[in-house]
Amino acid sequence: MHEMALAESMLEIVEATARRHGATRVSEVRLEIGALSHVAVDALRFCFDAVTRGSMAQGATLTIESTPGEAWCMPCGGRVALAQVGEPCPRCGSYQLTVTRGEDMRVKDIAIE
Ligand SMILES: [Zn+2]
Repeated sequence: MHEMALAESMLEIVEATARRHGATRVSEVRLEIGALSHVAVDALRFCFDAVTRGSMAQGATLTIESTPGEAWCMPCGGRVALAQVGEPCPRCGSYQLTVTRGEDMRVKDIAIE
């Protein structure tokens, strides 16, 4: 499962960050997930609970923020909002778009004890 791998790599980042700060427990993990990333949030939450069991992030609150999709439109010569990959430019209807934001997932912040 795609989300399981994401949750595992996320936990690695979280634990490494927590250790660097001398923490023993992680109480909250804040994630940013791009609107174009195809991450199933419900599945990710489930996987997060599974992979954090027995780790220092066990029982941590998972807060997920969605970042909007954005693309560079050639004909417009500027950035435009993009709700889904494969959709045309909302301004001019062109398909000459390069996605610039909203495709990835990252750990934004964690709260430690
Ligand atoms: Zn355009």
